[in-house]
Formats: sequence, structure tokens, C-alpha cells
Amino acid sequence: MEKHYHVKKNDLVMVTNGKDKGKTGKVLRIVQKKDRLIVEKINMIKKHVKPSQKAKGGIMERENPIHVSNVMIYCEKCSKPVRVGKKVLEDGKKVRYCKKCDEVIDK
Ligand SMILES: [Zn+2]
Repeated sequence: MEKHYHVKKNDLVMVTNGKDKGKTGKVLRIVQKKDRLIVEKINMIKKHVKPSQKAKGGIMERENPIHVSNVMIYCEKCSKPVRVGKKVLEDGKKVRYCKKCDEVIDK
């Protein structure tokens, strides 16, 4: 069953814990089984890749998943990580909004 987190794919988030604390990035993927996220350019790890017919091999960098509890939604209007609330718009659409400035996160 699909779980629901406070963040979704394509959200802009700020890392609140760990070595990349304070950095922001876009959520690329959610790893449901492990409650983790792949965030663009966050928690990069170097991986040695063996040469193959398709690629030359060498050291590749890629994102390592981080736990969903280590990120917060980043509000561009507030320029900081914020708590979000949920509300229903007049047209019935459910959206998340920034509790600080009321800016709608889901556009
Ligand atoms: Zn805000």
C-alpha cells in the first residue's frame, strides 16, 4: 500500500540533519519500502563502476537515499524550511500550504 509522507516527488526540500544539513534539493524519488528519499545532489556517494560495453567505468557519483524524517518542505517565499498544512481550495482541490506565509506548495 502506498504511504503518504509530508513530502512528495518534485517537492523542494531542505535537509535538516546529517552531513548535508541546510542544503536544498528536489525530491527525485521516494523509496516507499524504506521511508527514504532520493534528493537531487543530496547525500552524494562515490561508486566504483566496472567498465562494461556500455560505459567506460570509473568513479560515478550518485544520490544515496536519505530518511524522510531528515527533510522538511522548503518554502521559497519564506526562504526557509517550514511546516505545511492541508486545505481544500474552492474548486475542491486539496493542496498543501506553508503555515508561515500561506503560500500554496502544490501548484
Ligand atoms: Zn512560506
